[in-house]
Amino acid sequence: MSPSPQAKSQTELVLVALGGMGEIGMNCYAYGLGTAADKRWIIVDLGVKFGDETEPGIDIVLPNPSFLETNRSKLLGIVLTHAHEDHLGAVPWLWPRLQVPVYCTGFAAEILRLKLMEAELLDQVPIKVLPLSARFRLGDFDLEFVSVTHSIPEANALIIRTGPGTVVHTGDWKIDRKPSIFPPLDEARLRDVGDEGVRALVCDSTNVLREGHSPYENEVEAAFDRLIARAPGRVVVTTFGSHVGRVASAANAARRAGREIIVAGRAMRTMIDAARNVGLLSEAGQFLDEQSFGFIPPEKALLMCTGSQGEPRAALARIADDTHPMIALDPGDTVVFSSRTIPGNEKAVSAVINKLARSGLRIVTADQAAVHSSGHPRQGELKELYGWLRPALLVPMHGEAWHLDTHVEFAKAAGIPETALLFNGQMIRLAPGPAQIISEVPAGRLHVDGRMIVPAIDGPSRKRRKLSFVGVILASIVIDDRGDIVTEPAIVMDGGPPEDGEGRPFEAFLADALGTAFNSMPRPRRRNNDAVRETLRNALRRAAEDVWGKKPVCHVVIHRV
Ligand SMILES: [Zn+2]
Ligand SMILES: [Zn+2]
Repeated sequence: MSPSPQAKSQTELVLVALGGMGEIGMNCYAYGLGTAADKRWIIVDLGVKFGDETEPGIDIVLPNPSFLETNRSKLLGIVLTHAHEDHLGAVPWLWPRLQVPVYCTGFAAEILRLKLMEAELLDQVPIKVLPLSARFRLGDFDLEFVSVTHSIPEANALIIRTGPGTVVHTGDWKIDRKPSIFPPLDEARLRDVGDEGVRALVCDSTNVLREGHSPYENEVEAAFDRLIARAPGRVVVTTFGSHVGRVASAANAARRAGREIIVAGRAMRTMIDAARNVGLLSEAGQFLDEQSFGFIPPEKALLMCTGSQGEPRAALARIADDTHPMIALDPGDTVVFSSRTIPGNEKAVSAVINKLARSGLRIVTADQAAVHSSGHPRQGELKELYGWLRPALLVPMHGEAWHLDTHVEFAKAAGIPETALLFNGQMIRLAPGPAQIISEVPAGRLHVDGRMIVPAIDGPSRKRRKLSFVGVILASIVIDDRGDIVTEPAIVMDGGPPEDGEGRPFEAFLADALGTAFNSMPRPRRRNNDAVRETLRNALRRAAEDVWGKKPVCHVVIHRV
């Protein structure tokens, strides 16, 4: 059934997910407003995720922006909800392909500027810095930031008012009524928005599997008080550098106990400076740097450092390895992991913990004490938000398939009349009418490989993964005009066994196999480079497999004289 002419000319509001729907990280959503044939778009968040061991050599993964590039002339801007990497980290990489202004509040702007400076893009990207609670227009989109609490300063929900209806795009949030830093959650404003009427709530699903409410930050601070009171030596608190509220909690507890605060790790220092630039941490007093470490008696020191995820280059890993230039701990000092281990980082974190334990340090994690609280809403918090907003429709975001699924079930049980499940690469019409998936768009991921952006599927990383399992053989042969091999073929093998079963160098064994295969070729065929290459490659692979049981990647280079 084709849509009626009337439906074609009516204004609709659609949402496209390019990241964050069905996988963790690289959040990127686009809202489109207009007729079926002609829409204007805003991008909400442009984040990265981090490469894992299945993507060798890849630190950063980007959402595929081709849908946005195709619509570039109709893009109104990029709106960033907050400064976490999974929400703004892709801007320096993808902005050159989009070239529209970026709208965010002060703290995100501070972080973005640093990233753009590194990418030498600072003078090109127009950053529109908006005050907290700003209401602003992009085309026909009437937008408003509402402050929410999260694990970084200045997290914003985005209210998107349009002709067909209002969307509340939560960004990342939790309900924290006792945060350690400004701004608090603007519950009153969210209730107002609910009173105006909300068509769709597009909502964080990270902790939908967990019952109850996440603890408030002041409970974490109280746990720090108790730990510090019992700690005979130094107390080390490791958390994300960007969790400025947690830094404030630890600093408050340290001050009460008469301890100096020393900060190690550039990332944490950068975040603290950015927070101070927007007027935060003014009460927290002085943070000493690493050079002061040796001058503070252990029982007077609280050290804050990065590395809670076991990152090998972070301060904590270097302290655990005893390779930090300024900092060395003593047996009996306490190390507090004020963090949750992100799935995929378990091995790295436990390696660091075990190194610290072997050095006689006392370890405290969130399993033993209330030293961490997540920045995402549990079921109790979701229910509260539903109550304030009373949306007609719920679309879960920011989660893997399991989270999104569970969130749909949870919302139905909580009485939200309509729910819709959206995955990366899908376009959904939110209004008017019942929500409906109406299109598929190109999605998926790109890899940042060194300085270049390359495809993830069939890209260099995939080849490297193969090489890491089977190694590589390179053979070089010189053939004269009679079709004979001149000089010995040169064979180089990387990542293979040193010898064959009889103690011969493996490369010599491969050279024999190559010679035999070449000599078995009829002379006319030896003139054809493709045929020679194919025959020799197969011979090398077969020979390697016979002895080794693996088929390496083989390359044959032919020279004619
Ligand atoms: Zn996030
Ligand atoms: Zn976040």
